[in-house]
Amino acid sequence: MTQPVPPDPSTIEAAGALLRAGRLVAFPTETVYGLGADATQDEAVRRVYAAKGRPAHNPLIVHLPDLAAAEPLVHLDERARLLAAAFWPGPLTLVLPARPGNGISVHATAGLMTLAIRVPVHPVAQALLRAAGRPVVAPSANPSGRVSPTRAAHVQDDLGPAVALVLDGGECPVGLESTVLDLSRPDRAALLRPGGLPREAIEAVLGPLVGPGGDPARPAAPGMLASHYAPAAPVRLDAKSVAPREALLAFGTDVPPGALATFNLSPSGDLAEAAANLFAMLRAADRAGADRIAVVPIPGAGLAEAIRDRLRRSAAPRS
Ligand code: AMP
Ligand code: MG
Repeated sequence: MTQPVPPDPSTIEAAGALLRAGRLVAFPTETVYGLGADATQDEAVRRVYAAKGRPAHNPLIVHLPDLAAAEPLVHLDERARLLAAAFWPGPLTLVLPARPGNGISVHATAGLMTLAIRVPVHPVAQALLRAAGRPVVAPSANPSGRVSPTRAAHVQDDLGPAVALVLDGGECPVGLESTVLDLSRPDRAALLRPGGLPREAIEAVLGPLVGPGGDPARPAAPGMLASHYAPAAPVRLDAKSVAPREALLAFGTDVPPGALATFNLSPSGDLAEAAANLFAMLRAADRAGADRIAVVPIPGAGLAEAIRDRLRRSAAPRS
């Protein structure tokens, strides 16, 4: 792989051609950097799983430039159209019944009858999807189970030669993966993964969602693993104090003293800023030479739910 390139009309055109040729292109979205491949080519989609070391049972999200591009792929009901009108383009993924014969590779959906789709708002992602002219799978551009990339340099560090081209769009503004909502059943809307669009925003449109927090009947998302987003160092949550050999992820003004290195997700206690910094600071804390990464509690609703989800997984026992 060469160095990340700035996105301009000629590099975006070239990236679109690489995707159509079955190659992998990493690109910025508002959530994290995606590892893009043509969703209609089996071999291209298989390359994504191989590059990430991703389990084959973990289905991929298909990225589209607009709602019109979704019509031939899935059945959109009234709820899906309301949410698309309210939140697309943006960090919301909808799981919907797939239209048979929609051309999407069976590897992308892990053989399911449903398809997860998203319309990203990032201008580089938008331009690339239009240049490709195909539906594009784009999981996070990092090895499966590790910390997601929010800078082009993260992708280059993590995936190296597997990627034909990296478009460098700077820092991802949201910094957390999309919220995944399952609308495949008419009788319930299920939150499969909290993410960059807060649950409360969806509930303001649809009413209460089921899952995932603390719900024993919680809908299981295929491929969602307890351990994910894991730095090399172990992670300790809800830290009220710090040991000398620990690196600290802090939030707000109440910062426990004595850490080997301290990274404040948002000194002013702003959740959007904390989300945007989360993965880059987890990576930085991991490089600080500490024995462990301690993280202060991140209280509250809205984006805090997704931040806590990522931190919980980063701290989960690894297999
Ligand atoms: P990632 O690409 O790593 O952001 O993960 C995408 C996530 O979306 C997967 O881990 C699944 O949990 C979820 N997903 C994708 N496709 C489907 C589907 N057809 N049904 C349910 N969940 C899905
Ligand atoms: Mg990922």
